[in-house]
Amino acid sequence: MTEQTPGFSTLAIHAGAQPDPTTGARATPIYQTTSFVFEDVDHAASLFGLQAFGNIYTRIGNPTNAVLEERVAALEGGTAGLAVASGHAAQVLIMHALMTPGDEFVASKKLYGGTINQFTHTFKNFDWNVVWADPDDIASFERAVSPKTKAIFIESIANPGGVITDIEAVAQVARRAGVPLIVDNTLATPYLCQPIKFGADIVVHSLTKFLGGHGNSLGGMIVDAGTFNWSRENRYPMLCEPRPEYNGIVLHETFGNFAFAIACRVLGLRDLGPALSPFNAFMILTGIETLPLRMQRHCDNAQAVAEWLSQRSEVAWVSYPGLGGDRYHNLAKKYCPKGAGAVFTFGLKGGYDAGTKLVGNVKLFSHLANIGDTRSLIIHPASTTHKQLTDAQKVQAGAGPDVVRLSIGIEDKDDIIADLEQAMTA
Ligand SMILES: *Cc1c(COP(=O)(O)O)cnc(C)c1O
Repeated sequence: MTEQTPGFSTLAIHAGAQPDPTTGARATPIYQTTSFVFEDVDHAASLFGLQAFGNIYTRIGNPTNAVLEERVAALEGGTAGLAVASGHAAQVLIMHALMTPGDEFVASKKLYGGTINQFTHTFKNFDWNVVWADPDDIASFERAVSPKTKAIFIESIANPGGVITDIEAVAQVARRAGVPLIVDNTLATPYLCQPIKFGADIVVHSLTKFLGGHGNSLGGMIVDAGTFNWSRENRYPMLCEPRPEYNGIVLHETFGNFAFAIACRVLGLRDLGPALSPFNAFMILTGIETLPLRMQRHCDNAQAVAEWLSQRSEVAWVSYPGLGGDRYHNLAKKYCPKGAGAVFTFGLKGGYDAGTKLVGNVKLFSHLANIGDTRSLIIHPASTTHKQLTDAQKVQAGAGPDVVRLSIGIEDKDDIIADLEQAMTA
């Protein structure tokens, strides 16, 4: 690359990659190998002692995955990344590095349904205790903080409701509490929003969605902003205490502003094991090359569909922050000025039955439980993704009985709108 700081589109194609030194291959090769030969005995010993960086075994790191890690870290403006098997695995590794049994973390109650489940039920088994706060009431985050709080977790654009969280305001609460702010940036992607610029200390992604972008590969990513001071008050034992298995080194002293990513790799990924397949890393890298083009088209199409829906007599409401009257419109202008994303919800006057009927009648839209595909997707959350939640939790999460969620693809917008029209009038 040239001397000048590369722009976002250039980074999306080039960051982390160079022609393969052995073969000259221009695309990043899929290093489909479990393990890597050591140069000699001393080299092997230094790799195992964390005195040198290098490849040992694909559960801990792989050269294809390393390109993906460097690329997403560059796009987010972080110091280091860690690629893992799924977005949910990334969340587990983050909390594993931060929490000890009995600890608490504060989370926005407007989150992806699967994350609400993970936090409510599965994390209980580790005695990691979630305390919910309301993203529409920043003071509720402040009130939720206790001496046991180890982190605050929000989504930039919250799934499924088109909620935009005031990242900067929550970051101030995290600063005052002395805990890191974790932002799930899956729905926005770094093309629309870079949470680190607004005070996030850790960014997490489901690469499965817009970053991979083609609905063909699962993956997750942890990005370390390099901003948090882990040494304070010995609150984070994994980062602050000597590691017996690594000659007694203290991770935050040895690795400085990328110590968090290292902790997630050499303790979390090593021992919990949710490694990303290099094949999936290759698919996701290919997807990221066109992220800026796709994301702009996703947003432009979503804006057109939201405007069309808001004129329809069958539609009770549309929750899309790109609409002028939307309650999150000003936050969208601040945090996502290029577009308000492509996942949003709307309500049908006919309620639950109208929602399931619409989903049954679409032809171009695919009825499935994913978002961030090139294809337009539709789901009725109350009967599917959010079914496990109580009625009150459903409404809180923006998934009441009348709610339909769309993930607008990059087809021709006239075809997307025509499909919704025929399905509503069928
Ligand atoms: C899908 C999703 C996740 C979970 O990611 P997986 O890759 O499916 O494990 C987490 N957060 C958000 C916002 C998501 O959309």
